[in-house]
Amino acid sequence: MTKIQETTLEINLPSLKANYHHLRSNLNPNTKFMAVVKAYAYGSDSCEIALYLENLGVDYFAVAYTKEGIRLREAGVKTPIVVLHPLQLHFKDIIKFNLQPSIYSYPVLESFLKVGKQENQYPVHLKFNTGLNRLGFNAEDLPELLKKFKAQSQLKIASVFSHLGASEDINEKDFTLNQIKAFKEIRNEIISMLSYRPLFHLLNTSGILNYSREAEFDMVRSGIGLYGFGNDPQYNLCLTPIASLKSIISQIHHLKPGESVGYNRGHVASVPMTTATIPIGHADGISRQYGQRNGFLTLHGKRCPIVGNVCMDMLMIDVSGVDCKAGDEVVIFGPEHSAAELASTASTISYELITAVSQRITRKIV
Ligand code: PLP
Repeated sequence: MTKIQETTLEINLPSLKANYHHLRSNLNPNTKFMAVVKAYAYGSDSCEIALYLENLGVDYFAVAYTKEGIRLREAGVKTPIVVLHPLQLHFKDIIKFNLQPSIYSYPVLESFLKVGKQENQYPVHLKFNTGLNRLGFNAEDLPELLKKFKAQSQLKIASVFSHLGASEDINEKDFTLNQIKAFKEIRNEIISMLSYRPLFHLLNTSGILNYSREAEFDMVRSGIGLYGFGNDPQYNLCLTPIASLKSIISQIHHLKPGESVGYNRGHVASVPMTTATIPIGHADGISRQYGQRNGFLTLHGKRCPIVGNVCMDMLMIDVSGVDCKAGDEVVIFGPEHSAAELASTASTISYELITAVSQRITRKIV
């Protein structure tokens, strides 16, 4: 492995492939797979990831916003791309770049019908709310909605989906089973009323891992699992984080008792201590919550707590007793130093930590 010379997010494609195959191994071979690559593929690099997954044969990509889909098209991605949260402002671009919108409300439907006046059977994806109460039609909308679809030929329902709100939480099993039941009822009604058969999909990563027997349907949508997290220690063993965030020591300081480190004198040494300054800060996604010895980095295999307050572009770690020098590598997170564990020190989750890695940090495919 070559030595890094700046803060770098290494992205391991063989691990991505292994995670994809692990997730697939839970599924029926005919089940389609939608790879969720929104937010720069959860903070990594959406174009590299999507092109690689396209080669592995995923059936669909999902992004949150239209601009994310355009980026993928401009990088040469040919696979269908669903825009989960399209804004009306971008509907023309959706069509121009051959993206497929999620239609989650009547205003969205009316507005897309207007923009797509010239279209014939343009694929759209109908989203239903089954308990998350975020985006989606309600089951009661179905008769009217299907009537609207039958009365036009511009749009075709390529798929119908809903999103689980607590699939990772075994204590909320009843809630999830109710969501599954509600989705099944929606599915039965649609099948009985439409003359063609759209795809149906409900499961996210934890859904695949916990409920594939109950609710696999025609397709699944996975994000976090592809990137190596399963929301459960049991599954984390089968999935490998694809991203390693590494940096190097810029400078070492030796503090006497009474001397302090960082802004607001965030930490005052009570005994002689040695600190190392690392070029990554809250502008890069390492929030101030990780300071004050909450979070830690790994240096030469040892955990070194973050001391004082995290600055915008730097943070300081306590390296007392660790043999180290400027230029030595530190790991912020990676397969051996889990982003989920680090995130928990700031009362957050892996999703938030990995997607927050700023775009000024170099990405390197390994
Ligand atoms: N489907 C939808 C509608 C989503 O919003 C998301 C992510 O938030 C996913 C699937 C992927 O979820 P996960 O990353 O838990 O697999």
